[in-house]
Amino acid sequence: MKFREYEAKQIFRDAGIPVPNSVLITSPNEAAPALSIVADNVVLKAQVDVGGRGKAGGILPANADNINAVAAELFGKTIKGLKVEKVLVEEALEISHEYYLSITIDRSKKMPVILFSKEGGVEIETLAKERPEALRRIYVDPSFVTLPDFIVRNAIGDAPKEIGKIIRNLYTVFIAKDAVLAEINPLVMTPQGVLAADGKIILDDNSLARQGISENRDLAPREAEAEKHGFSYVELDGSIGVIGNGAGLTMSTLDIIAHYKGKAANFLDVGGGANSDRVMYAVRLVASMPGVKVIVVNLLGGITRCDEVAKGIIAAGISQPVIVRLAGTNEAEGRRLLEEHGYRMLDTMDLAIRAAVEVAQ
Ligand code: GDP
Ligand code: MN
Repeated sequence: MKFREYEAKQIFRDAGIPVPNSVLITSPNEAAPALSIVADNVVLKAQVDVGGRGKAGGILPANADNINAVAAELFGKTIKGLKVEKVLVEEALEISHEYYLSITIDRSKKMPVILFSKEGGVEIETLAKERPEALRRIYVDPSFVTLPDFIVRNAIGDAPKEIGKIIRNLYTVFIAKDAVLAEINPLVMTPQGVLAADGKIILDDNSLARQGISENRDLAPREAEAEKHGFSYVELDGSIGVIGNGAGLTMSTLDIIAHYKGKAANFLDVGGGANSDRVMYAVRLVASMPGVKVIVVNLLGGITRCDEVAKGIIAAGISQPVIVRLAGTNEAEGRRLLEEHGYRMLDTMDLAIRAAVEVAQ
C-alpha cells in the first residue's frame, strides 16, 4: 500500500526529516486560509498517485493575489485519469540543488539498498539507465537497526553532511514502517537547508496488520473481494477466466492455456477444502471481470469434494460458459450434477483447457 505525499511528509516530519511547511486542503475555499498560515508564496500540489505529476500540471505556484483562482483550477483538474480531491498547500522553495534519495529492497541480494544521487528531480529509471555511475547503491546488512557511520559516509560521498542525518532518519522510517520503498525525490538544497520536497512510502502489504492498517485501500474492488475470501487472485489481459486449487495446478492451467495459444484474463486459486459457497464466490468473481468470455475450472478433489464444487458452479449462475475438469472425491456425483444442469465436464485438463481456448476464440 502506498502513502501519498502528504502522508509520507507527516511521517518524515515525525522522524526528524526536514520538510517544507504545508497544509492539506480538500476544497478550493480552504486555499486562502491555508496560504496565510504557510507562506506568501506557495505551490499547490495535487495529491494524486501518478508519476510525473509536476509535468502533468499537478503542481501550480500561487500567491495571495491568485490563490483562489489557482486552487479552483487545480481542484477542477483530472490528472492522468485521476480527479484532484486533496491538495497540499506548501511553501514555495528556493531550490539551488536537487538530490535523489531512496531506500528499497534488493530482492536478489535480500538486502536493503540506499540509492543516492547528486542529480535528483529526474525520473530515477532514466538516470539509472543513462548514467548508472551517477547513482550510488549502498547495501545494508539487514540485521542493522540503525545505520553505521561508514555506510552513511559511503552513501553521501562529498554531498553536504546534513544529508547523512536525513539518510539515518529515512532508514529508521523504512524499518519502522515495514516499507519496501521510502523515497525523497527531490531532496533539495535551499537557503533554509536541505528539505524533502517530495515523498513516497510504499508499505509491504504483508505487514499491514502489524502496521495497524485494517484495509488495503489501494486494492481494486475485485482484488479486495478476493482478499476478503482468502483467494489468491491476479488479473491479466486475455479472455479466459481460470479457477484452480493449489498454486501448482493453477499455474499449470495457465501454462497449458499458453501452450494452446490462448490468453488468460485472470486466475484464482480457491485453496484447499473449498465448499460450494467458496466455489460460487470464486466463479462469480472471475466472471465479473470485463472481457471474460469463458471460464475453465480445473480442480482436484481431495478434501475438496467434487459434488460441492459442482453445486457452487451451478449456484453461481453466470452468463459465460464454464468448462470443468474435476477429478477425485465424489467425482461421479459432481459430473452428474453438472451434466444435469448443462455444464461441460471433460475428462482431462488438456481437453478442458483446449475447449476453453476454442470457445474464447
Ligand atoms: P512530482 O512531479 O510528482 O515528482 O513532484 P515534485 O514535488 O517532485 O516536484 C517536481 C519538481 O518541481 C521538483 O523536482 C522541483 O524541481 C520543482 N519545483 C519547483 N519549485 C518547487 C517547490 O517550491 N516545491 C517543490 N516541491 N518542487 C518545486
Ligand atoms: Mn518527485
